Amino acid sequence: MSLTLYNTLSRTKENFVPLKDKNVGMYACGPTVYNYMHIGNLRSFLFEDILKRTLLFDSFKVKHVMNITDVGHLTSDADVGEDKMLKGARREGKTVWQIADFYTKAFLDDIKKMNLLPPSKLCKATDHIKEQIEMIKVLEKKGYTYFKGGNVYFDTSKLDDYGKLAQLNLRAETQARVEKDLNKKNPHDFVLWFTKSKFQEQEMKWPSSWGKAGYPGWHIECSAMATKYLGKQFDIHCGGIDHIPVHHTNEIAQSEAANSKKPWVKYWLHNEFLVLQREKMAKSGENFITLSTLIEKGIDPLDYRYFCLGTHYRKPLMFSYEALEGAKAARKRLNEKFLELKKTDTSSAAKQKKYLDTFTNDINDDLNTPKALAVAWDVLKEENITDKDKHSLLLKFDKVLGLNLKALKKEKLKIPAEVKKLAELRLVARNNKDWKKADELRGRIKELGYVVGDTKDGYEIKKE
Ligand SMILES: [Zn+2]
Repeated sequence: MSLTLYNTLSRTKENFVPLKDKNVGMYACGPTVYNYMHIGNLRSFLFEDILKRTLLFDSFKVKHVMNITDVGHLTSDADVGEDKMLKGARREGKTVWQIADFYTKAFLDDIKKMNLLPPSKLCKATDHIKEQIEMIKVLEKKGYTYFKGGNVYFDTSKLDDYGKLAQLNLRAETQARVEKDLNKKNPHDFVLWFTKSKFQEQEMKWPSSWGKAGYPGWHIECSAMATKYLGKQFDIHCGGIDHIPVHHTNEIAQSEAANSKKPWVKYWLHNEFLVLQREKMAKSGENFITLSTLIEKGIDPLDYRYFCLGTHYRKPLMFSYEALEGAKAARKRLNEKFLELKKTDTSSAAKQKKYLDTFTNDINDDLNTPKALAVAWDVLKEENITDKDKHSLLLKFDKVLGLNLKALKKEKLKIPAEVKKLAELRLVARNNKDWKKADELRGRIKELGYVVGDTKDGYEIKKE
């Protein structure tokens, strides 16, 4: 019954025990705000949402910190390629600041539509330059850095356990890098601070003691902000599996080096990709599908949420519109069944317990959402518990699943005026014992997609 989570650091499922009582510090790497999020990115944020909701379901207190990367992230995570923010600015003829602002708002809009709980703290890299410089200074003082070609580098050879998260075989990989930065002493070294940028028009610059104004490398922002808001040691750090070999590996290196090699984060959690025709979803070409793309095709963001819940977060999720349509139909059925539940029945906590226990076990087993979702369906099909119990259970499950069942209640009353009028006419016909007319009216209501049924005090209308 207690929560177990797969820790990338140990490559095993471990019992989750926070560092401090029931308080959980959780850091999630946020978006680089140079474009819309594609739905593969959103799968990562959904996984983190399920994790957070499960922790809350288990009565933990969660402090969830997420960064917004608005500076320093190159198209390759390993300090090569173009600057992502500049790329966005050039594409749209705007300044990098305008780009950051616009896509931060778009991101927040997306996560709201997908019913993701907002982070407790959302922090921008550009608002924390001071903290990043301070951390680089600590690393410099402790001898973990070198200055070459105008940039400050982290010297990975100074740590004997560099690459432990990714289980990197450093010797074997030395030859593998394609584009080389000749300033680096070791291929895995990375930039902490740029002053000599290869991007001449770089607008985001700050003064520092390393010569002319510069800007931070990508990895340092997460270490600096996580430490500021969650402390030098905290419980959970998460993100997509693509973060394991470079970004998270470098975050660990610099954070533990700065903090006298004390273990930085206890549990590292990573989700698998959304896969489109055997390729990882990317921000280019036809593989670039956003939430708006789905909405235009009549897919509700919660249909996409339901679709993702059907596959465990550590398994690749094959994307297809057919599969998404299947999820949409299933969610529609689930919603309708939920709305049909009568709340006037008797309720029994004892009868609910079996299902609540099963659900709790499944979700606490490394966030097994496919199984947890199946329990919701089992409850709806079960004949031995009352509607009221089903209703109560579904609402409890939805605290984790996040399908927003609570909000459905309001929609129930939205029956078109024409349907209501026909139902009234049918009632009159019935009262006059004009069965033929009543049946005819029932047929017309059905044509409009509704079913009318008789009750003690009149009638009720449901969607077909
Ligand atoms: Zn990060």
